Amino acid sequence: MSKASSLALVDANNFYVSCERIFNPALEGKPVVVLSNNDGCVIARSAEAKALDIDMAAPWKAIAPEATMKGVIARSSNYELYGDISARAVEILSRYTSSQEVYSIDESFIRLTGTPAQVTATGREIRTIIKKLIGLPVSVGIAPSKTLAKLANRGSKSSPALEGVCNLAAYTPAQLTAILESVAAGQIWGVLSVALFDGGGVNSRDDAGV
Ligand SMILES: [Mg+2]
Repeated sequence: MSKASSLALVDANNFYVSCERIFNPALEGKPVVVLSNNDGCVIARSAEAKALDIDMAAPWKAIAPEATMKGVIARSSNYELYGDISARAVEILSRYTSSQEVYSIDESFIRLTGTPAQVTATGREIRTIIKKLIGLPVSVGIAPSKTLAKLANRGSKSSPALEGVCNLAAYTPAQLTAILESVAAGQIWGVLSVALFDGGGVNSRDDAGV
């Protein structure tokens, strides 16, 4: 195995909700949403809230009666807290790479060097350390380019068997084709939007609540 350079996209899971859970562990395992300024609409959902079909951007006042009846817990957004936790995660990631692009409040691209197995192991270590030191769950997608790292990150979140780390170098070309063909049409834009900006230092817009 040759030593190659890979890109890892490290992305927090349900970032705003995960931040709220760090300071209120009682929210763990419960359906939680975070609301925009003045509690206007839903800007982040826990996996449990997504499972209850709480929509992104839903106006809270309109859905609150039914949502609270289903057990959904709403939190007002606290951007100072989210910024602080983001900065801590960025600092930890900087220890693992000489090249880091902070892509959004909960996403960084970092360059990793090593064999595919070594890079996957580093991805696992990053995930464990960030959870241990900050309490933040993250997923790691590893690939040769930003576009594919984004795709790998989606894979790491959608397949529990991967335990939060997906390195595309582990797949054969036939398997990669099958993976690409399985990406739902609705998800393609999120992947392609990165492709447009590949190589540029664009400060983007991904849904930090995801
Ligand atoms: Mg995220």
